Amino acid sequence: MFDDINDLYQQVILDHCKQPRNFHELPQATCSAQGHNPLCGDQLKLFLSLDGEKISDISFVGSGCCISKASASLLTEFAKGKTKSDVEKMFEQVHEMVMSGKVLGDVGKLAVFAGVHKYPARVKCAILSWHAVMAALKGESKPVSTENEQT
Ligand code: ZN
Repeated sequence: MFDDINDLYQQVILDHCKQPRNFHELPQATCSAQGHNPLCGDQLKLFLSLDGEKISDISFVGSGCCISKASASLLTEFAKGKTKSDVEKMFEQVHEMVMSGKVLGDVGKLAVFAGVHKYPARVKCAILSWHAVMAALKGESKPVSTENEQT
């Protein structure tokens, strides 16, 4: 689908889609949040284990399209060992990136989602796991739906 962006980016997304990292439940989770993207049918649940401000462990389960799975997989890879504020900051950067295609600052591998802005229907897929992690950090128990978000 990403015919005109870097093949490497596509490879990273396919790799994380086929073999999602941290794809399991987390029995010791201290918080969790569910995300649902009705437009595409993506559904996921994130589990976080917080140690003060630090995310000591994070995982997810769910089903959905390749973009949503790869996004959640890369999110868990990024967030493990980071602080709440690191994740909040990265949420802003990823959000801006999927909306505008502009990569701001050092987003590492998450730059693979910059191309998503060209496919508006896919933006919600890419940002779903980020809305879910923000909800988990805020301790919201209500499932997150992209229907209620401005994306
Ligand atoms: Zn999707």
